[in-house]
Amino acid sequence: MGTSLPWIVLKFGGTSVSSEPNWRHICEIVRQRRSTGARILIVHSALSGVTDRLEKLLEAALRGEHLQLLAALRQRHAELATSLGIAPQAERALEPWFNELAQLIDSIALIREVTEKSRARVMAMGELLATEIGACYLRSQGLEVAWLDARSVLRAEQREAASIKASYLSATCDFAPNAEAGAAVAAVGDVVITQGFIASDDTGDTVLLGRGGSDTSGAYFAALLAAQQLEIWTDVPGMFSANPRSMPTARQLLELTYDEAQEIATAGAKVLHPRCLLPVRQYGIPLFVYATQVPQLRGTRITAVPGSDAAQVKAICVKKGITLVSLESPGMWHQVGFLADVFQIFKKHGLSVDLVSTSETNVTVSLDPQANALDSAVLAQLQADLKPLCRADLIGPCASVSVVGRNIRSILHQLGGALELFAEQRIHLVSQAANDLNLTFVVDENQGDRLVEGLHELLIRPVRDDAVIGPTWERLFGSGRQVSETNVEPWWQLRRSALLELMQARDCAYVYDVATVLQRCTNLRSMKSLSRVSYAMKANSSPELLRVIHSSGLKIECVSIGEIDRAFEAIPALQAEEVLFTPNFAPREEYAAALARGVHVTLDNLHPLEHWPELFKGRSVFVRIDPGSGRGHHQHVRTGGIHSKFGVAQEDAARFAAAAQSAGATVVGLHAHAGSGVHDLDNWTRTARLLLALRETFPQVRVIDVGGGIGVPDRQGGSAFDMAGLDAALLALDFSTAGVELWMEPGRYVVAEAGVLLAKVTQTKTKGAAGYVGVATGMNSLIRPALYGAHHDIVNLSRLGETDDGIFDVVGPICETGDVLGHDRALPTTTVEGDILLIATTGAYGASMASHYNLRSPAEELLLR
Ligand code: ADP
Ligand code: ASP
Ligand code: MG
Repeated sequence: MGTSLPWIVLKFGGTSVSSEPNWRHICEIVRQRRSTGARILIVHSALSGVTDRLEKLLEAALRGEHLQLLAALRQRHAELATSLGIAPQAERALEPWFNELAQLIDSIALIREVTEKSRARVMAMGELLATEIGACYLRSQGLEVAWLDARSVLRAEQREAASIKASYLSATCDFAPNAEAGAAVAAVGDVVITQGFIASDDTGDTVLLGRGGSDTSGAYFAALLAAQQLEIWTDVPGMFSANPRSMPTARQLLELTYDEAQEIATAGAKVLHPRCLLPVRQYGIPLFVYATQVPQLRGTRITAVPGSDAAQVKAICVKKGITLVSLESPGMWHQVGFLADVFQIFKKHGLSVDLVSTSETNVTVSLDPQANALDSAVLAQLQADLKPLCRADLIGPCASVSVVGRNIRSILHQLGGALELFAEQRIHLVSQAANDLNLTFVVDENQGDRLVEGLHELLIRPVRDDAVIGPTWERLFGSGRQVSETNVEPWWQLRRSALLELMQARDCAYVYDVATVLQRCTNLRSMKSLSRVSYAMKANSSPELLRVIHSSGLKIECVSIGEIDRAFEAIPALQAEEVLFTPNFAPREEYAAALARGVHVTLDNLHPLEHWPELFKGRSVFVRIDPGSGRGHHQHVRTGGIHSKFGVAQEDAARFAAAAQSAGATVVGLHAHAGSGVHDLDNWTRTARLLLALRETFPQVRVIDVGGGIGVPDRQGGSAFDMAGLDAALLALDFSTAGVELWMEPGRYVVAEAGVLLAKVTQTKTKGAAGYVGVATGMNSLIRPALYGAHHDIVNLSRLGETDDGIFDVVGPICETGDVLGHDRALPTTTVEGDILLIATTGAYGASMASHYNLRSPAEELLLR
């Protein structure tokens, strides 16, 4: 290669090459890089979804049903060619490949068998076809582009112990810079287009580099050509601290080292194929990740030099479909060669082990589906072969959740609060990487996303922008996913002038939007599974709201005599039958008073029945059962488990039934509530099943009440609760056949998003690097941030639309360090005394938990109609 011009390798992914606007960008990018004097190698993927369709085509061929799929593939490519204005030339170029594909498929259909070899050949067609279109288009734009068959340059290496399947479908290649390969590419031109994903083996057979392997092709070519840089162009501008498509608060990572990027990719971030880091790292080739649809945006730069030396958590990653193999043998302690024998068996099955944790009698290992061809036959055989050595149990499907960053060990203390998230997880395995770059937890698969969200929220989202951690996805693009009803355009944006007007006469106020409350009530009333919905008024006991809620068909749930009194005062039409009293450790007089009023009464302890039986003689009661484990947004709001004071333990159910009988009371309802702010649907279905099962102990039960706790997104962009999903899941339990009514009692869901706290800025302050914005009220009005670390979005309502270019702590006037409404909030630096800040989603547990601490009155409550 001598002194000739350097190469730049540009890899474009499936989405990048599937639309006309993107191809225009690609053309510009090539021209611009070319103008620096470099030679360009473009490596690209199949059109998006085509590799999947080719897999489907193979399955269809086995059933002889492939013709339609084949035609659809032709159509897909023809459509892109037409939109690029190159239909005639593309058709000529594609024809030979489509003929070859048709032949391959015909012969598979004939013998009704797909070998690994023919699978690889069929799946390679996606990239071969797409690059023909790419070459035609770039030529049509005046670029002199040569088309190269990647298989003539990339050679698979022989891997000992690789199965035939892995050799054909997940091959690796030699990539040491070599003059021969360089010459082969250079011989075809200075601007060359070739395929990702495919290579050839020694016998000339086509092999694949594993799903998503085009990134690796790019890296192989970059190494072979000793390229000046590798650029991976995809549909996101870089690596983010979490998958930005599922978490809009994910932060853009501006600078990473190869080992960090490797760790993030290996831990599950699909944006880079884990195998693409090794070649560039080995030869010190800088790797950039950019978004094709916004080529001007800065992306991620990956080199050997850290952007900062600080120990820092950089990403939370999740990988699903993990199978754990738990190897149990009492004799393994100090036994020489046990692990060697065990791993020999994994090797024999071509299985590579990812995580390992050991104890005296147990070794647990994880198998990553990306690295292994896992199917039940392989796993069963593995188990059988391990049997003479130990007991091997399979656990799965699991998710591995990794906290990734430099020097994780030195910042373990920062994980303190985050570890609380594990209070209710079943953790199957914990592993701390020897390179100090990650800490990984393996949990049940369905818990993975929740954990990622929680960890990200605590460890990364609040970090200030620096040279490494950049803006959030939503700051770059706005929140691009379906969000909760109000968050699509929060009501307070539309009612901004009305809100500002209300604040002309006051310093602070809670304002509730009646339309939003009504909307939530309608949603609940339309749930077909529920016979009755009660509003848990502890969330917000504003008399006017109670009237609105009751008039839209909800009943009322109270937890104290004070609430019962308030409900009857506020709602003149309220009938005793419509009230459910669900207190906790209430004194005897409250039960007596409630029974006298004729409302439904729930007991959550044996004590009242055993010690005051006369009170309950001839009465119908509900019993609150402890579901056994709590759920919710914070430890303080989880109301299940032995360490929670709520409910009768399940094992005491029979004793409770006996006590009720001897007191002469009838148990007509079963109630359970696991906690507050819950998003998992199975929370309620599990509770319902548990209560249904208890009907054997309480045969006269006609109501099952599964509590409340429906979560709401705590920030704009958060996902809305899946109400329809919950309804369907509850309907599937078929209560009507069971002869019982299903009741529910949400509070937060009804009012949270309808409320905002408005507070006037009283003053601002800086202390070193820290900035404070002080407002007229604090934890005396809203204690949730101090009590639970709850997040409430905060905006400067007076300056909505101005750039939030400063970071401040928003604080109140209470003499407590904890009097902070929001830490590190982005607000305009122009924020001044007199501006109105809006603290969002404060309709629930805002005013109702307020106090007069410091003798400062909490914010008054107003309704907006
Ligand atoms: P391409 O087809 O260009 O190869 P991929 O779909 O393979 O693109 O990878 C890009 C996708 O990776 C993004 O759309 C994003 O959803 C996903 N992704 C997952 N984790 C991350 C992360 N940590 N940072 C950026 N993207 C991620
Ligand atoms: N087309 C291949 C796949 O979908 C390779 C790639 O896009 O990276 O897996
Ligand atoms: Mg990819």
